[in-house]
Amino acid sequence: MTLIVQKYGGTSVGSIERIKAVAEKVAKLHRTGAKVVVAVSAMSGETNRLIELAKGLSEQPNLREMDVLVATGEQVTIALLCIALESIGIQARSYTGSQVRILTDNAHGKARIREIDGHRIHTDLDAGRVVVVAGFQGADEQGNITTLGRGGSDTTAVALAAALKADECQIYTDVDGVYTTDPRVEPKARRLDKITFEEMLEMASQGSKILQIRSVEFAGKYNVPLRVLSSFEEGAGTLITFEEDVQMENPLISGIAFNRDEAKLTIRGIPDQPGVAYKVIGAISAANIEVDVIVQNVARDNSASMTFTVHRNDLKRSAEILKQTAADLGALEVTTDERIAKISIVGVGMRSHAGVAAQMFEALASEGINIQLITTSEIKITVVIEERYLELAVRTLHSAFDLEQTGVQEV
Ligand code: ASP
Ligand code: MG
Repeated sequence: MTLIVQKYGGTSVGSIERIKAVAEKVAKLHRTGAKVVVAVSAMSGETNRLIELAKGLSEQPNLREMDVLVATGEQVTIALLCIALESIGIQARSYTGSQVRILTDNAHGKARIREIDGHRIHTDLDAGRVVVVAGFQGADEQGNITTLGRGGSDTTAVALAAALKADECQIYTDVDGVYTTDPRVEPKARRLDKITFEEMLEMASQGSKILQIRSVEFAGKYNVPLRVLSSFEEGAGTLITFEEDVQMENPLISGIAFNRDEAKLTIRGIPDQPGVAYKVIGAISAANIEVDVIVQNVARDNSASMTFTVHRNDLKRSAEILKQTAADLGALEVTTDERIAKISIVGVGMRSHAGVAAQMFEALASEGINIQLITTSEIKITVVIEERYLELAVRTLHSAFDLEQTGVQEV
């Protein structure tokens, strides 16, 4: 018998009308004879509202109590959904995370799931009931309520699917799937029927808005087929799956991810000697600042320069640290640039094809877009460019790699 875990996000359960619509969707699946487990988020805006309430009392509210507070949002929606289901003749039972024994560690606000006891859920499913579980929450060994971090209901759904060995985990949200790139930048962006877990993780800058990234990692690790669909429109959505399953389509590139969240720092005139890169980057990471793209050059006079990117929020602090390092090393200068954008082409197809980088660089060159930094992985090529060219670059690459077309791409 098919077992499906469905997850409905905050906008999908954002009003009584919408909860009714969700109940209809769940009922429709249930009537096919499938066993259905549903994980829900709080009504949209509710988690933020609860957090604001606490902030009115304390700048740094106690984390244990914050979890008790914010977990209530999901307790409301599980009950409402079950009431809606019962009212249309579907037997349903709601459970909070601790009731259904979603055991987590005790890291309040960012807890990780250790174990789920599927026993109770199976008993209900065998009795023909729909089981509705509160997303985003669990309990630690001592029974303290914990939460999994913002967007954590996705991870609840995937963890339930893994524990119950579900046939599929369906994430219902306000977009109808994963796109080749952000449709607001490239209106010709196309919904992907399938994408691999690895690609989805690489598309994070776009994908994280759709799914909590941890849920994708979790699904990949436990082999849970994951589907993203719209609550508001019919359609098959996007299946996030294994590489073997997408071979058929085998596009060179699956998508283009980008962000404007980073800034660039350069230190010039440093000695070309062992230990210098460590001094430069080490000081930055010692301050807990994450460094992304790194490039080093050696000039003809044997002096070196290093350029790297950090999150824009960390630029000021990074520049201060780098200036200190520059003074220690007797470097020539430190410069910074915030007007950059990072753009990546992503695809498992490039694993087996040479020349993808050249094709990317050629496309950018044809539009006169200068590439400042380059980094690659097996399934991704990332460049840093001037921010004002971002939209043009996205559209240029989207067309250069034929992403608007459906079907197999010839190479
Ligand atoms: N309600 C939680 C949040 O807003 C969890 C979720 O919606 O996934 O982050
Ligand atoms: Mg979400």
